[in-house]
Amino acid sequence: MPEGDSLHRIAARLRPLVGLRVTATSPHPRGLVTGVATAVDGRRLEGVEAVGKHLLLRFEGGVTLRSHLRLSGRWHVGPIGSTRAGRPWLVLRAGGIEATQWNGPVLSLDDGAVRRLGPDLLAESTEPAALVPRLRRTEASRPLGEVLQDQRLVAGVGNRWMCEALWATALSPWLSVGEASDEDLRAVLQWARTEMRAAVAGPRPDAAVYGRAGRPCRRCGDVILARGQGDDNRTAYWCACCQRGPVTGS
Ligand SMILES: [Zn+2]
Repeated sequence: MPEGDSLHRIAARLRPLVGLRVTATSPHPRGLVTGVATAVDGRRLEGVEAVGKHLLLRFEGGVTLRSHLRLSGRWHVGPIGSTRAGRPWLVLRAGGIEATQWNGPVLSLDDGAVRRLGPDLLAESTEPAALVPRLRRTEASRPLGEVLQDQRLVAGVGNRWMCEALWATALSPWLSVGEASDEDLRAVLQWARTEMRAAVAGPRPDAAVYGRAGRPCRRCGDVILARGQGDDNRTAYWCACCQRGPVTGS
């Protein structure tokens, strides 16, 4: 699942196209029916922005392209002609650069979904302490692992970074948001923001806990557990020995 840091990385690679008039095509029929290529073809790209897990490309004339990658979608950016054979949903070309979008699955001109998002955790202006009251708006009994991934509260954190941030701050994904202190919430948001921003610029670090079910905890040596959490049943990974909170979810 592409998380906020991957989207910021793609946004940075698309930035050289800003200010240029873009040629747009949709080789894949599913891309074509979105109408995106037709709407943006020949327009000047005015800005590229990652907001949570959404990528927004703003074109002149008030046309905004929104791309959400979900599990399968991806972008490739390189010199013209560097794209592998196949049928991308969208091809943007300008200034010798070619940006291709593959497998959708969300490519649209509607940015209504973005307006419902919470603040982007990675944005320059975002202050983690200021997000704590937002996390308090949700039901106090919801487990932290789920709350951190609620994009309406704070945008950008997916499953991997949720697991890593809670392990780093020694809080269980099953601890309810009501049982976490303001300082706990600030610390976990601050850790996620710092590490995700570092991952935008450099490589993603090895996971301490994510994907390590059955292996020893790097802090205490106990075994890492895994269990599905939330409506989407995403797998939470945690150490029940050194992360504060219920041993498992009920
Ligand atoms: Zn441990």
